[in-house]
Amino acid sequence: MAGDSQGVLYVVGTPLGNLEDLSDRARQTLARVDLVAAEDTRRTRGLLSSIGLSRPLIAYHEHNESHQTQRLIAELERGKLIALVSDAGTPLISDPGLRLVSGCLAAGIRVECVPGPSALVAALSICGIAAERFTFEGFLPRRTAARREHLEALRREPRTMVFYEAVHRVKPMVTDLIAVFGPDRQAALARELTKLHESLDVATLAEIGARLGESIPLKGEFVLVVAGAPEASGSSDEVEAQRIFQLLHTELPATTAAKLTAKITGISRNDVYRLTRMEKD
Ligand code: SAM
Repeated sequence: MAGDSQGVLYVVGTPLGNLEDLSDRARQTLARVDLVAAEDTRRTRGLLSSIGLSRPLIAYHEHNESHQTQRLIAELERGKLIALVSDAGTPLISDPGLRLVSGCLAAGIRVECVPGPSALVAALSICGIAAERFTFEGFLPRRTAARREHLEALRREPRTMVFYEAVHRVKPMVTDLIAVFGPDRQAALARELTKLHESLDVATLAEIGARLGESIPLKGEFVLVVAGAPEASGSSDEVEAQRIFQLLHTELPATTAAKLTAKITGISRNDVYRLTRMEKD
């Protein structure tokens, strides 16, 4: 840690659910700082009291970020040590903090990380889907049209994709994923990571969609990991035929979907079956 005369912003990762995941270094940092900037002060007070600490807290969330950033930078310039925490996981990962961190860097204030859990890394580490290269998509737009448009842009994304979603939107989101990526794309739904009811379902998007609200309760917090698009094999016409078939097959039986795909693309129905590896009914 830096000397006391110099202000430092510590960006501290906190548990996703299991309090034992708070690192020793995070404890020591929280015990040492003059001020903790917290997304939800009540929640952070609970975390601090669970480890026998009481520190001055200041609310720092999306609605007061701009005003509080100036205030916190002024404190740091006076030599204060400040910790930034979010409700759970790592600040700035779909959480507030960007203005403060970039403001500190611009003002020449030291920023140190005290790394901890993040739901996206936790999910990737257990889902068995390639994690060498991935794209973190965070929360998708709330409105269906905007969400589909966003997903369309990812249709040929070859890297693994990681999404966050709130419980009441997870089912419509999976429906949209099926419509754009097809029902057979491999995926994993991680729920309540590190908590009592942690669960992981690794299956196709269609299977996950069918399990949601059945064997997967619509409760808690979710991370969805989706495998990247397979290397496009064949001509662009064939790739397009596969996409059209998959889209139609989310609503129609395979025979009708194949017939329509053949009509739309001019590719023979047998070739549509071959390309999509479907058995003829
Ligand atoms: N900063 C956090 C991080 O580092 O993961 C993410 C904060 S974001 C506002 C909250 C979202 O993260 C939830 O909607 C969910 O998608 C995911 N999440 C957080 N905790 C989780 C958990 N224990 N299990 C599964 N997903 C979780």
